[in-house]
Amino acid sequence: MLVMKFGGASVKNADGVRNVGRIVSQYAEDAPVVVVSAMDKTTNALEELAALAVAGKHQDAAEQLNRIRDFHCRTVEELFGDRKLLVLSELDDLFTELEQIVRGLLLLGDSPPRIFDRIMAFGELLSSVVLYRHLREILPSVTKVDARKIIVTDATYKGAEVIRHLTEEAIRKTLLPLKEQIVVTQGYIAATPDGRVTTLGREGSDYTASLLAHALNAKKVVVWKDVPGVMSADPRKYPDAVHLPRLSYDQAVEMTFYGATVIHPKTIKPIQNKGIPLEVRSFVNPEAEGTLIGYTPAENPPPMILHKSKQALITLRPGDFSFMDEGRLQRIFSALRKLNINLVQRSAVSLTVCVDDAAETIRDVVSPLTDEFLTETTSGLSLQTRLYPRDFSVPAGALIIQLNERAIHAVLPD
Ligand code: ASP
Ligand code: MG
Repeated sequence: MLVMKFGGASVKNADGVRNVGRIVSQYAEDAPVVVVSAMDKTTNALEELAALAVAGKHQDAAEQLNRIRDFHCRTVEELFGDRKLLVLSELDDLFTELEQIVRGLLLLGDSPPRIFDRIMAFGELLSSVVLYRHLREILPSVTKVDARKIIVTDATYKGAEVIRHLTEEAIRKTLLPLKEQIVVTQGYIAATPDGRVTTLGREGSDYTASLLAHALNAKKVVVWKDVPGVMSADPRKYPDAVHLPRLSYDQAVEMTFYGATVIHPKTIKPIQNKGIPLEVRSFVNPEAEGTLIGYTPAENPPPMILHKSKQALITLRPGDFSFMDEGRLQRIFSALRKLNINLVQRSAVSLTVCVDDAAETIRDVVSPLTDEFLTETTSGLSLQTRLYPRDFSVPAGALIIQLNERAIHAVLPD
């Protein structure tokens, strides 16, 4: 069994959907499970829609909703021509539901995260209808499965934690009997055991694909992107960036952790545990080699440059000028649990952590620590990581630097 994931850029218009149809046809013999994201930037558009509704902007929210509706309906008209009615009526049911939720928000004037997730889920609900109906026209035996029935999470909205054993069980029970068929399902969206809609966090569709592959013991996951695979750096910033034909799981985890956005950081672990290879390929050029992530590392890896922006540094010093001992470290780390820590530097009298800049959470987390520590927070920073560097010169202006034999990490003004 094969799992394939198509991101929003691959289904951004009718031609995109047709192209995905061609790619899936080429793999039809493997009866792939096809995971699809929201079309183009629909998830962002839905986020704006929710914000307008919460702000009580009736008119703007109505216009935003119409834009999302028009975009999907236009694509359907172009794709299905005079066979469009069935698909349009399926979309219409979804839009009616979305409209009701938005109306509720406008009345409420508040955006409980659980409603936010319900709104965000419509991107994938819509795209999966379009892709499913298109595949049905060109291929025999295609089925659609609702991801909310197979990806089971806790109720942490906007980035839920997957309940692995329930998810595995649900995936196997639902998908194994369909293994001769091509299955279309949604990335990113999930539900709690009692059926409330959740999401896996932005760009979470890759993670869905990897959970499916793990549960189904798939022979491979293929993630289709608009880039030729994983590159050693962002080619828009670094013209010397080169394509990486192979990466080990650990190299891929390290790259995504330190800012490579090509795949979602949570994607690798589930498939690594079972040795399932992951291929990143270009939907623009499906024959091209792509990047194969597996046990075998890149040989003589070239220098890689990674950036993680929106970083903050938090420095803590004991208020009584004593040492930063283990008891204090323990209290600090248990308080910092809610933050994403990317780098840690400890000295005799201080601890500095580089974290994803989430201003509000940082304030909440740091304020109880001010009883015991002098604290200082600097935001507007970025973390630059050089893996396999050729020279160990450190970037000028870095606030903190960490070096080891394979990497240089430096926190710099953004
Ligand atoms: N559609 C969602 C997003 O844009 C999930 C994904 O694309 O992976 O974040
Ligand atoms: Mg996307």
